[in-house]
Amino acid sequence: MMKNESRTPPESSSQTCAHCSDSTLDTVRRIENAFFDLSRPNTAPRRMLVEKLAELAKTGEAFSPDDLWQRLRAVYGKIGRATVYRSIEQLVENKVLDRVELCDGSHRYRVCGGSHHHHLVCTSCHRVEDFQDCLSEQKFEEIGRRHDFSVEDHRLTVYGTCRRCRRTADRR
Ligand SMILES: [Zn+2]
Ligand SMILES: [Zn+2]
Ligand SMILES: [Zn+2]
Repeated sequence: MMKNESRTPPESSSQTCAHCSDSTLDTVRRIENAFFDLSRPNTAPRRMLVEKLAELAKTGEAFSPDDLWQRLRAVYGKIGRATVYRSIEQLVENKVLDRVELCDGSHRYRVCGGSHHHHLVCTSCHRVEDFQDCLSEQKFEEIGRRHDFSVEDHRLTVYGTCRRCRRTADRR
């Protein structure tokens, strides 16, 4: 987003909504900026996507591209599958969406905050949560030195069973 600093992003239409929290407006702005950066027109399908993703950001729900497409279709009717898939890819590139790998190798997408974090993934219901803990920079340097490896980035995903799934299992 830094590269287009001279350009002003479009005003968010939901800016005056009294029901939205600051973080929701933040998310809406981040999504809009990502789209704006790509200098694409602010079309109706894009507007729908922004609204839907802002909703998903609030619940922290992870989704598959088809989930998102079906949901958009249910509410708005006509929207192309390719548009949804393309937009997701663009939003991943712009770091608005995180691509999270499930234990079976499939993927879900999630609107996360912009700060450094990792994911907890429930192997039973595929719920995704985030957490901030990480190794220190020194630790990564140490690992790099030990393996003669220049560390550039890392991902950490913790798999397990969420509270809700454990409770359901207990009741059986
Ligand atoms: Zn995330
Ligand atoms: Zn679960
Ligand atoms: Zn980390």
